Amino acid sequence: MEAAAKGESGASDELGARLKAFEGRAASVTGKGKDLVNEPMIRHWCEAMGDTDPAYTGPDAIAPPTMLQAWTMGGLSGHTGRAGAHDELFDLLDEAGCTSVVATDCEQEYLRPLRLGDEVGFDTVIESVSDRKTTKLGTGYFVTTRTDVRVGQDLVGTHRFRILKYAPARQKEAPKGTRARRPRPVVNRDNAGFWEGVERHQLLIQRCTDCGTLRHPWLPGCNACGGLDWDTVEASGEGTVYSYVVMHHPPFPAFDPPYAVGLIELAEGVRIVSNVVGVPYDKVRIGLPVRLEFRRYDEPDGDDEGGPLVLPVFRVLEDRAGGVG
Ligand code: ZN
Repeated sequence: MEAAAKGESGASDELGARLKAFEGRAASVTGKGKDLVNEPMIRHWCEAMGDTDPAYTGPDAIAPPTMLQAWTMGGLSGHTGRAGAHDELFDLLDEAGCTSVVATDCEQEYLRPLRLGDEVGFDTVIESVSDRKTTKLGTGYFVTTRTDVRVGQDLVGTHRFRILKYAPARQKEAPKGTRARRPRPVVNRDNAGFWEGVERHQLLIQRCTDCGTLRHPWLPGCNACGGLDWDTVEASGEGTVYSYVVMHHPPFPAFDPPYAVGLIELAEGVRIVSNVVGVPYDKVRIGLPVRLEFRRYDEPDGDDEGGPLVLPVFRVLEDRAGGVG
């Protein structure tokens, strides 16, 4: 992800100066890969990635370059004796209120291929700590660590991993006396027809006119045949709860947790994420029959706060609501 950031004056940033002192320090003591570069790990990786390049099989196999980090990972049991400046830096940021973390990007550089039997060693340094930055998420510091991966004395690759450690921005609260409004859907040329249908109280399913496959959510092309032409069919409105989650946390303005979010399988066979209404959240169950209805949210109450939001929701059929649980 990309975090839009603007610099802030660092002159009075005493914490920033303490953080800068971490630059160049070892993030952890020198580590050794837990396994030699080996065929089974390469095979599993290639199967997971769907990579069938012949360079990764046979007695002269090399490891896919993007596996670089895999050879340095500690697994569930971790590496022993790895205490370094990294934990110290994070403790300092935590104490300063920068308790949240988000990974922002990763860069890798490959200098030579890893071959079967190579024994990987690595060391990680804190390469840089940014000035204090304010992003949409909050204010904090970008921390970049660099891991140098070696075989013997040869540097074979590096990976840089950048995170933002930040104090979360406070959610803007709606002015007193006004209700928070639901977030609006992002309508674009690929899904506009869906939302136009919803406005008319029709749930439209896209249908590929080349092969007839139905699809939802709306997409520019058909996943079955690649066809770009489509028309729509209107959902009958019958469906069942295919799966669901109950949202407790985090709270969002305009939503009142706990509430059930269902993955509804329509009679036509496609599935749609929506709210399940008509029963308490803890009565929602997989397999419950539901019926489509349209609800209006955020009715204007006099002021020019924009139009209401129409959404498809699914009501548990009454004759079944009592018999579950
Ligand atoms: Zn098709």
